[in-house]
Amino acid sequence: MIRFDHVTKRFGDNTVLDNLDFTVASGKHVTLIGPSGSGKTTILRLLMTLLKPEEGTIMVDGDYLTHEEKNGKLVPAGEKHTREVRKKIGMVFQQFNLFPNMRVLRNITEAPVHVLGMSKDEAEERARGLLDLVGLGDKYDAYPTQLSGGQQQRVAIARALAMRPQVLLLDEVTSALDPELVAGVLDVLRDLAHTTDITMLCVTHEMNFARDISDDVLMFDAGRVIESGSPEKIFSEPEHERTREFLSAVL
Ligand code: ADP
Repeated sequence: MIRFDHVTKRFGDNTVLDNLDFTVASGKHVTLIGPSGSGKTTILRLLMTLLKPEEGTIMVDGDYLTHEEKNGKLVPAGEKHTREVRKKIGMVFQQFNLFPNMRVLRNITEAPVHVLGMSKDEAEERARGLLDLVGLGDKYDAYPTQLSGGQQQRVAIARALAMRPQVLLLDEVTSALDPELVAGVLDVLRDLAHTTDITMLCVTHEMNFARDISDDVLMFDAGRVIESGSPEKIFSEPEHERTREFLSAVL
């Protein structure tokens, strides 16, 4: 579902991702862990096409995200092509990013109606179902500021799912929350991971959550994957010294 081939991303002299290769198979849940500044968020931003790699290619569901084929040649992707491929990806951010001037229901229906061309009635019916799924069936009429951070984040998850993405990117979705609100958000994501076939790529500092939902954990250091494997292997028998140091600092 996701393929990075020889991806290099630089900011000036700073090589943030260094000839990176990795894949995520369809329906799998993969977690990126590693020290701050190791390049994890940059990967999600590349997938959201908020950034472009200097070298390499990124594919999503068999289509190039970064490139398109024209006359049998691979050329940098145009905006229309990128937009089409990107529709397969939903993202939940650290800072919720709900539209503050719209009620909860409209936050969720806005993109399906305007981007997917869904009818308002269908979008609203689906939005109500998604609000039930995230445990907020009674909040459809509230404004974001009337909700707790945890509730806002659950609306943001519903909003991402409303676009029927095949891939869900989660960028430290609990790190802006008060500690008592974290569990509710993680429970929703855990249910989603266990009951749907959506592919998930998560950046998280919640190691118990990572252990629970991940099929694979990739340990990053300085823009490279230094170790990967099942959560049991990474958390119980890490091979790399840097992984051991990182885990002993965060666990
Ligand atoms: P992580 O998510 O692992 O904490 P990031 O992907 O956010 O790491 O950042 C990796 C490196 O890229 C850091 O050194 C950071 O300073 C740098 N970086 C990220 N975004 C930018 C940017 N827009 N401009 C310049 N440097 C950036």
